[in-house]
This record gives sequence, structure tokens and C-alpha cells, in this order.
Amino acid sequence: MTAADPDIDAFTRPYWDAAAEGHLLLRRCTACDRVHHYPREFCPHCWSEDVTWERASGRATLYTWSVVHRNDLPPFGERVPYAAAVVDLAEGPRMMTEVVDVAEGDLRIGMELEVSFRREGEVAVPVFGVRSEG
Ligand SMILES: [Zn+2]
Repeated sequence: MTAADPDIDAFTRPYWDAAAEGHLLLRRCTACDRVHHYPREFCPHCWSEDVTWERASGRATLYTWSVVHRNDLPPFGERVPYAAAVVDLAEGPRMMTEVVDVAEGDLRIGMELEVSFRREGEVAVPVFGVRSEG
């Protein structure tokens, strides 16, 4: 385990299993019909426990970002510079992630992105790149 490993338990296991297969999962609340991310056992909007897993489209738009040029925490040190970002998922939730394969000068608020997964040790971490046509 490293400092960057996500906290995987019985509850978040389906999320990481889906990620390993290339799918981003969200949680949809049956009571208020809102979607959230990162997965929680309770709906953060109405506190209902009646929340189910749902596969996301993987589409998002860029909300904001910060290009990180220095990070001493492994494994980030080997990866700088990288674009730490917040994206708006098509389904509504905002998600902290990383934008990959886009030059720093090409990053634009509202640019269309799609999810891909980067293998990090035991897990596949969702990152976002430019959405391909179609
Ligand atoms: Zn709810």
C-alpha cells in the first residue's frame, strides 16, 4: 500500500471491480433520484439509504484544474507535471480526477472529456482525456 491507494472496503469493492473492467459507477438515490460520486452508503442529498449502483456514461466536461508541477508524495513525484482537475459528469456529480494526454495550454473550461482508466498497482483509477468523436 502507498499513500495514494484508495480506501477499498466491502462497500466500495463493486466500484473498483467495475473500474478494473473499464466502467465508471455512480450511486443513484431511489428516494430523490439524484446521483452522487464518490460512492457513499447514504444519499448525501436526502440521507436515504435506498441508493443503487449505476453505470455512468463516462462523459464529462472540465470544470476547473490545476497543473501540479511538484508533489513529493509517491507516486505523484514521477508523474509531474499533471493536471489535477474537477470535472462535471454528464449525470450531474462533480468529480475530482486528473486530465491526461492534454497539453497544459490546451485545457479549457467546459471542454468535453471522457473517462479512461489508469492501472495503479491493484486498482484502476478513473482519469479523463479528450472525448473522441462519436
Ligand atoms: Zn436522495
